[in-house]
Amino acid sequence: MNLENNEKNLDFIRLRVKEDKESKKNDGRVHTRFPPEPNGYLHLGHAKSICLNFGISKEFDGLCNLRLDDTNPIAEKIEYAEAIKQDVKWLGFNWGDRLFHASDYFDQLFEWANILIRDGKAFVCDLNFEEMRKLRGSLTTPGENSPFRERSIEENLDLFGKMKSGEFPDGSKTLRAKIDMASPNLNLRDPVIYRIIHKEHPKTGDTWKIYPSYDFAHGQSDSIEGITHSLCTLEFEHHRPLYDWFCKNLGIHHPQQIEFARLNLTYVVMSKRKMLRLVEEGHVSGWDDPRMPTLQGMRRRGFSPQSILDFSERVGVAKRENVIEVELLEHCLRQDLNKRAQRRLGVLNPLKLTIENYPEGQSEEIDAVNNPEDPNAGSRKVPFSRNIYIDRNDFMEDPPKKYFRLAPGKEVRLKYAYYVTCKEVIKDKDGEVLEIICNYDPESRGGDTSDGRKVKGTIQWVDAETAIPTKVRLYDRLFSVPNPEDVSDGVDFIDNINPDSLNTIELCLTETSLGDIEVGLPFQLERIGYFCKDPDSDSESQLILNRTVALRDSWGKLNKS
Ligand code: ATP
Ligand code: MG
Repeated sequence: MNLENNEKNLDFIRLRVKEDKESKKNDGRVHTRFPPEPNGYLHLGHAKSICLNFGISKEFDGLCNLRLDDTNPIAEKIEYAEAIKQDVKWLGFNWGDRLFHASDYFDQLFEWANILIRDGKAFVCDLNFEEMRKLRGSLTTPGENSPFRERSIEENLDLFGKMKSGEFPDGSKTLRAKIDMASPNLNLRDPVIYRIIHKEHPKTGDTWKIYPSYDFAHGQSDSIEGITHSLCTLEFEHHRPLYDWFCKNLGIHHPQQIEFARLNLTYVVMSKRKMLRLVEEGHVSGWDDPRMPTLQGMRRRGFSPQSILDFSERVGVAKRENVIEVELLEHCLRQDLNKRAQRRLGVLNPLKLTIENYPEGQSEEIDAVNNPEDPNAGSRKVPFSRNIYIDRNDFMEDPPKKYFRLAPGKEVRLKYAYYVTCKEVIKDKDGEVLEIICNYDPESRGGDTSDGRKVKGTIQWVDAETAIPTKVRLYDRLFSVPNPEDVSDGVDFIDNINPDSLNTIELCLTETSLGDIEVGLPFQLERIGYFCKDPDSDSESQLILNRTVALRDSWGKLNKS
């Protein structure tokens, strides 16, 4: 990137990084990291952080590490760690040989805890969490010292050693930094830095019975890796003085933490804890349910990495909490799809149409353009014959004025094929339309007439003989209100779930070329929306399509009005 030209567009983080680089802070190095905790799948908010960290390292000739912050074996799983790596790669970022784990530093962190004890800056506390909370005070009242705060250095060293060797049960003791119980910043009121957890760790097995707290591990891991700019979300702003305290008192490299606002989206819940509930309580089919804002869910839905990168860039970085409208995400998605997605024909509610003057037993192949936005996408052959299906919504027996689709006596253009005129409507005894009988104009192949008559309506169709029976899943927003997490007492965000977020149509018909479409590769069903093949298709030996997004760009409209 050309920094000179783009200076005006630099966000506050990039400006800071640029300044530091120019003033040769850290010898002019730029080194960032993306540090997820492997306790769930990555979501769109993480993608923003990934783009920011990897993006900045690229723009400033720096490096970016991937670090799994695995300090809590109770919530963390190998499954999550693997998915995280897969997702970062899918977005197109590369950590080279710099994949690290906070657990790589357990020995060092333990050593540093002992140094703090020896310096009289940490103590073993016997209070349980409830008792600790009571003595902690509040934003308006100072806390009180723990009765165990004045233990001797020898006793602390001895007890901490015994905690490590597993002599005490979970929760019976903690190691706490000795800072200031009257500090206006609650994070500095003798925070817990080690907890006893008798649980096997995915990386270190049963070596450890004590684990560092997030706060004790996070900043020091950054320090060990020589990170220059630790980018994190706003909720860690008040933890910064604590990280600084650790670095200062341990005399180690001091990364600069810079906070930015989390990505929040309307109609979306984006916290791993809440998403876990959606999965565990069966509100969605899994972490990769196409309605989830997880990268795995979005991929299954048909999002490309490019659309997510584009979105991240557009939302930028802000210093204050804000909520982005989900329409912006959909807009980025549509823009990307419109360029990339090939067009195909399909009908969601099939209605039989017979072309009476088309010879029985005959069929032909019609040329259909793959993507009008992309001249290189070419065209394909689509079979056409006497028996086709159109969409039930494209026919009205008794239409209003200015109805341009099919109706008794009316003529429409079958996309890429011929003009047909409705001659007869066949109904069952309840009056339901079973079949339409038409005549076609053999001169109108490809949509042109010799006499220049005007036909306003164009509808999609599929050939009866070769069409593929298809199950279609129409997804809508998972929540029905813009701020699903904004709930008053006694109300649960789960109550805000949209009961119509998934509407499955069991028997649709799609053109035969979709038989070998790649899973996850989006295409446009003309006039209907963007879709992609779901991985369940293979296990159910049936073509199953997920709707990626409807065609209409409501965001664009909103912004024009
Ligand atoms: P959650 O609240 O969903 O569990 P988290 O912040 O606990 O998320 P981590 O695994 O700790 O998840 O996050 C890894 C990195 O991603 C952190 O640096 C965090 O600041 C960033 N991050 C997480 N959520 C968002 C978000 N919504 N917007 C931007 N960055 C985020
Ligand atoms: Mg977290």
